[in-house]
Amino acid sequence: MMHSFIPPQRFFPYLSWTDIDSMEDKENVVIVQPIGAIEQHGPHLPIAVDAAISLGVLGKALEKLPPEIPCYALPCLYYGKSNEHWGFPGTISLSATTLLSVITEVAESVYRSGFRKLILMNSHGGQPQIMEIAARDIHQKYQDFSVFPFFTWRVPHIAKELLTPQELEYGIHAGDAETSILLALLPDQVQMSQAVKEYPQGLPQDGLVSMEGKLPFAWLTKELSKTGVMGDATAATKEKGDRLLASVSDGWVQVIKDVYRFRQPTSKF
Ligand SMILES: [Zn+2]
Repeated sequence: MMHSFIPPQRFFPYLSWTDIDSMEDKENVVIVQPIGAIEQHGPHLPIAVDAAISLGVLGKALEKLPPEIPCYALPCLYYGKSNEHWGFPGTISLSATTLLSVITEVAESVYRSGFRKLILMNSHGGQPQIMEIAARDIHQKYQDFSVFPFFTWRVPHIAKELLTPQELEYGIHAGDAETSILLALLPDQVQMSQAVKEYPQGLPQDGLVSMEGKLPFAWLTKELSKTGVMGDATAATKEKGDRLLASVSDGWVQVIKDVYRFRQPTSKF
């Protein structure tokens, strides 16, 4: 099935051009571009994790979205910018400029089809900046086009209740959260016998500079982790994954409703 986790009636590629041409209130129809990455996620997880999370969370949210709110999912963009994971086989990366071009050209095509609201739903922590640049440049060029560069995990969710403080701070890759959610989405593709616990090594202490904080340094995964895991994958459970998936997808139902209602400010000064 081409739609994977997306309900078929919400899967944009299943529409015909005449369906799209005759759609009502097209300027408020919410189009979502799920974006992932194909990159190492430790020895226990498939390289498709970030794409699976975008599709899985969006699919769950669209199942719960009231049918009167029009929203369609584009095909997932599986490839992202993943060069921080070079050195681990299987990581396939676009450059920043290529990814920027792909996002921009997809967005322009969506605009040409008559839509005026596009969410970039990205689940890979190495590329929110590119989505933000793309969104601003597209909106500057097409000012009646609202583009939303969203990171999947930035909606309210219950991770704080489920994960340890250490995991919340340092479990940034292939740790408890991502492994649990994969156990919920693609259990046959998770090899828990290979799961490890490895927190980043050699981080600066007692200063302002940190790995992921307000004043970050640039890093490569191989500098911080031997296995490619940053976090505790051994703590993951399907039960936690189900709860995380339910709460993140609830957040996404709200996001889609908010975008549907959104009106771009148009004050003229
Ligand atoms: Zn990931």
